Amino acid sequence: MVGLDPVAVIPDEVRDAIRTLIRWAGDDPDREGLLDTPRRVAKAWKEYCAGYGDDPAQHLARVFEEVGGYDEIVLLRDIPFQSHCEHHMAPIIGKAHIAYLPRNHVVGISKLARVLHGYARRLQVQERLTAQIADCIWDNLKPLGVAVVIEASHACMTARGVRTPGVAMTTSRMMGVFREDERSRREVLALMGR
Ligand SMILES: [Zn+2]
Repeated sequence: MVGLDPVAVIPDEVRDAIRTLIRWAGDDPDREGLLDTPRRVAKAWKEYCAGYGDDPAQHLARVFEEVGGYDEIVLLRDIPFQSHCEHHMAPIIGKAHIAYLPRNHVVGISKLARVLHGYARRLQVQERLTAQIADCIWDNLKPLGVAVVIEASHACMTARGVRTPGVAMTTSRMMGVFREDERSRREVLALMGR
């Protein structure tokens, strides 16, 4: 099976499961418009959950030591992301702000977004997603501080249940100087526009 696109082969049990779900929802999986839906849904879920095949720490393996004496906050702001809640498998759509205070070395800025997506493309709860990103940067870059703030809306809340569109949930994790030093925390939150 080497070289074969894993999504090209969809096991019968996966198709059957999606057909069962369509039937359970109240529709007929054999009607024309739905015939190819199990294959599409199966493919889409592999993509939504591509993070299981990713090791986010790897994105932080390559660091740059020549930073010209730069010793201020590095911030990637307003990074859009999508995830799925593990309770309803419903979309979580939001923005992340990721900052760290380097100790001697930095990473390519796009790598912070890769860490985010590596964890977001799984079944998640927003609190854990926030913590995993912060911990990954903390453990691998060993910076002086890490700050992660995530704002997201959860389709399981906006499209079902209490049906409150527009409501967003905010989570944050502060480590190192951003946790211990009030001034540093205020500075990073101001840079994030919060
Ligand atoms: Zn949910």
